[in-house]
Parts: sequence; C-alpha cells; structure tokens
Amino acid sequence: MRTITRFDQLREARKALSGPVGLVPTMGSLHEGHLSLVRTARRECSGLIVSIFVNPAQFGPSEDLSQYPRDLLKDQSLLAREGVEILWTPTREQMYPPGFQTWVEVREISRPLEGRWRPGHFQGVATVVAKLLNAVQPDKVYFGEKDRQQAMVIRRMAEDLNYAVEIVTCPILRDWDGLALSSRNAYLDAEERKAATVLNRALSKAAQAFDKGEREASTLRRILIETIHSEPLARVEYVSCAHPETLGELEGEVNGQALLSMAVRVGKTRLIDNRIFG
Ligand code: AMP
Repeated sequence: MRTITRFDQLREARKALSGPVGLVPTMGSLHEGHLSLVRTARRECSGLIVSIFVNPAQFGPSEDLSQYPRDLLKDQSLLAREGVEILWTPTREQMYPPGFQTWVEVREISRPLEGRWRPGHFQGVATVVAKLLNAVQPDKVYFGEKDRQQAMVIRRMAEDLNYAVEIVTCPILRDWDGLALSSRNAYLDAEERKAATVLNRALSKAAQAFDKGEREASTLRRILIETIHSEPLARVEYVSCAHPETLGELEGEVNGQALLSMAVRVGKTRLIDNRIFG
C-alpha cells in the first residue's frame, strides 16, 4: 500500500490502477464500520483507494475538530491488511489552499435533520467529496448508512453534477450491545459508553411498536424521546420520523417506509443513529 499526500502523485498513481476503481472516503481513526466499507469495496473493485482527511469545512466553530481522534499509523496498518492499493491523506493546505472560495451547496436535502443542527456541515461534506471524486475519478464510491443523510446529499450532488460514479451504501455496523460504531465513541467514558446504547434501544422500542401495528408518526417520535429521556446521561438534540427520500417530517399515519433518526448528546459527545421502518 502506498500512502500519498499530494494531488499530483494521487493522479499519477490512479492512472496505474486498472479495472473498476473504488474510493472509500473517511476521516480516519478507523473502526470495523469503516473496514466493512473497505471490505465491500475490495470485493467489488480491482483498485482500491481509501482517503483519510479530517475535513475542517464540515465542522462548526464550536465542534470537535481539534479533538477529533487521529491515529494514522494504526489506520495504515489496518488498511494494508485489507489489501488497499492507495491510502490518500491530503493535507489541509492541499485541500484548501490560500484563496480557496468555491463551495458545493446541495439545497433541500441538506436542510433538515443534521443540516438544521450543523449549519454549513453538508456544504463542507459536498465540497470535499466533490474534490475527492474529481481527483480520484473512481468507478464506485462507498458510504455508510450510519450517515444516511450524508449519502443522500452525495447521491443528489452526483446526479446534479453528472458524476459518472456509482454510489454504494453499506449497512450500519454495531458493537455487540447495539451501539453504532463511530470514531466519536472514543470520547465516551465507561459510564457514558453504557448510556450510549440508548440510541439503538430507542430505535428498537419504536421498531417493536411498529411491528405491533403502531403507525402514528408522532407516537413513534414520542417513543424515541421517552426512551432517551429514561437515560440520565443522554440529552435529545432531535428525533425524527421522516419520509426516507425527501426527509420531510411525517405527520399522521406512516404508510410505506419511514426513516427514524436522532442526534443525542451523551455527556459532551454527540451521537447519531437511524433505522428504516417498513
Ligand atoms: P467518517 O470517518 O466518520 O467520516 O466515516 C467514513 C465513512 O464510514 C462514512 O461513509 C460513514 O457513514 C461510514 N461509517 C462510519 N461508521 C459506520 C458504521 N458504524 N457502519 C457503517 N459505516 C460507517
């Protein structure tokens, strides 16, 4: 595996890859969730590029950019073991050189849910992914359903800007107790780590009610809120029962599918989770 930091080197190395080329964009501090994307990509592509870039443009001013966990040596050894050809770790100066002023804004789908709570977040995501796609020109790019709205924003962008790339989404990988794997789980102390299972417990409770025939969107949201409130260390930022394609909040009876999602603070750590119902 070659580790590359410069755009020009990346383009050269990309040319040497043949057959379908896959890209897995990440912010590093890799866990089994990331590796599940890498393994899917490895099966489907003959050339595999993983990028690691903690993208400042997708962090708000009061968010955790400076504390975000970083461990490049460990990430390198994990990726080498998966048979990745190229690890691309662009520097901040390469991505956003002085004078940078071009941004990609995907409008409607970026506004609700995460977009409402993290203004500017999806503009940062869309811009960096556009740059990654332009540089790598992959045949396939891989995203996790853990960040379902992110994958939807990128899908919209790729369609609107005519990217000839197939966007593959992969299921959420969870720890043994149901907590969705996340680099941010590293922030949790032992007590918070236990409390953090409340996100998946809330989704499971709502799923049980749904399976028993509950279809009222407001009741499903209430089940999420009440379950999260039962955990003293957890604080709801938002819960949502939304249309899985428009992300508009559903009112009245759910007929067809619904996307239940949430952001919850456990101590100071912000965690997200989601599940499709129906
Ligand atoms: P991140 O490094 O957090 O930006 O994540 C990089 C990619 O890995 C994104 O497409 C995430 O959705 C995906 N990902 C993160 N956690 C998980 C997980 N637990 N299961 C599946 N995919 C994940």
